[in-house]
Amino acid sequence: MSNIIQTTGTVERLEDFNKRFSLKDIETKTNNMFYQAISADVNIKDSKLKMDKNKLAVSEIFYTLSGEGDDAGAPTTYIRLFGCNLKCPFCDTRYSVEKIDDTIQRLTLEEIVNTIISYGCKHVAFTGGEPMLYIEKINKIIELLLLHSDDYTFHFETNGTIKPTHSYSVPVTYAVSPKFYKLDPTTLNDYTESIKEWVNWTTNHDGHQAKVIFKFVYEGLETVEKVKQLENTIDGFNNCFVYLMPEGRTLDLDKYRECAKICMKEGYRFSIRLQCILWNDRRGT
Ligand code: SF4
Repeated sequence: MSNIIQTTGTVERLEDFNKRFSLKDIETKTNNMFYQAISADVNIKDSKLKMDKNKLAVSEIFYTLSGEGDDAGAPTTYIRLFGCNLKCPFCDTRYSVEKIDDTIQRLTLEEIVNTIISYGCKHVAFTGGEPMLYIEKINKIIELLLLHSDDYTFHFETNGTIKPTHSYSVPVTYAVSPKFYKLDPTTLNDYTESIKEWVNWTTNHDGHQAKVIFKFVYEGLETVEKVKQLENTIDGFNNCFVYLMPEGRTLDLDKYRECAKICMKEGYRFSIRLQCILWNDRRGT
């Protein structure tokens, strides 16, 4: 692998970067100042992913406008990590879930940080796959970025199966998208427990600047029934920000209007899907 990080922005030799930011230094200097105990439940069976502890399998890193939820429209650098603990039949990022191919890069954490810095954007989103699988390594990335500048804000796109455990000194948003196909009688209890943890996380702001929103793809009245099921099962869920998003990868105004009407009727927030409107949900957007 080249030791020069190539991006559309600034290019810096990795050895120069390493001189400025070494993980070892950071570990000793920061003493976990940005997060609390690490206990992410990593459950990746693919041995190809059991790589160097200083590397991550990256599907893509790109700069765009955030497409969904409460920060839609915000300039954002996305890091899409390979690997997910679910296998949703409707997954629209299979290239980041199913098979490690030549498009997946194994990058050191320093390479990822340097690429993010080179874009010059201080809002960073971790997505996947399921980024919470790699929360320890992501926390190292966050530490390194915050040494560079304390103006960074972070965003996680997660399926909600892995509980949040970390606190940060800067604003962090978790967009939790529960996957309903998992809500069958055999998995409902486990999944509901995870969602409860997220609801607690959104209501307990002591010591951290976390915000949690829930996002659901609106596929018809069945979606509303399942959201209500969560409202009825989980205390505090109906105090959370709940977004419904129109289904589909391109702009379909009829679907947008149908979803908008349901949001108005039921009191949910409507989430645009800017990436579908502007770019037809192309990879890297
Ligand atoms: S949780 Fe998301 S990334 Fe994972 S398989 Fe399901 S849709 Fe794909």
